[in-house]
Amino acid sequence: MSTLEIRNLHVSVETNDGPKPILRGVDLTLRSGEIHAIMGPNGSGKSTLSYAIAGHPKYQVTEGEVLLDGENILEMSVDERARAGVFLAMQYPVEVPGVTVSNFLRTAKTAIDGEAPPLRTWVKDVKAAMTQLRMDPEFAQRDVNHGFSGGEKKRHEILQMELLAPKFAILDETDSGLDVDALRVVSEGINRAHETTGAGVMLITHYTRILNYVKPDFVHVFVDGRVAEEGGPELAERLENEGYDRFLPAASA
Ligand code: ADP
Ligand code: MG
Ligand code: MG
Repeated sequence: MSTLEIRNLHVSVETNDGPKPILRGVDLTLRSGEIHAIMGPNGSGKSTLSYAIAGHPKYQVTEGEVLLDGENILEMSVDERARAGVFLAMQYPVEVPGVTVSNFLRTAKTAIDGEAPPLRTWVKDVKAAMTQLRMDPEFAQRDVNHGFSGGEKKRHEILQMELLAPKFAILDETDSGLDVDALRVVSEGINRAHETTGAGVMLITHYTRILNYVKPDFVHVFVDGRVAEEGGPELAERLENEGYDRFLPAASA
């Protein structure tokens, strides 16, 4: 059983006019086996949260901490965070020219586990996960993110999550740009990885659509860099019906 505890997190983003405060005191606790949906209007700071946890250099933590089983991961390098068991699928993953998906996954797995996975079981595991995600086997030989479609990027993220078996997975807008069939396949992958590894999942999404497939235990609504409301799955249903209007400043007439 692991805990990921975000405490009073304040984050500023680097802009041309200097640092701009975005997150203004976020408190959130995730435990193994839980699925938390992070929802909220555009620009409320959802992606900033994932970038800050990932250690993106543009996002400066000015106050607060992120504790993985009591250890502040903000003091760790990006690699150390991954090794500690925090997986971040970024909204716009970078291309890695000359590195195939297959090599990338094996290198990541080796770095995280501290030893290379046995080749035979590894190849079998990769194949099985790819089949379940309805991925063409040739995909494994393509360069990471090079020419990937939106749907391929998302499947690749979930493939990583299944194979790397993190303690916590942070998935930002995994549902964006997916058609209904791809959304179902990707959601099944999240559920499978969640169930087989017992990972805690932070599912960041503007829309409630993916929550029809991946059932959250808790829902947190971000507004203006803070958690404005929290609840269970019923809160997502309410947002589906009402949208975010009641959280936004009333339009002046
Ligand atoms: P969300 O993911 O909820 O849509 P973001 O975290 O992407 O929100 O953005 C929160 C706020 O921070 C927005 O007002 C956005 O314009 C601003 N922001 C984020 N990244 C940058 C950046 N690199 N430069 C300037 N402003 C940024
Ligand atoms: Mg669960
Ligand atoms: Mg975002």
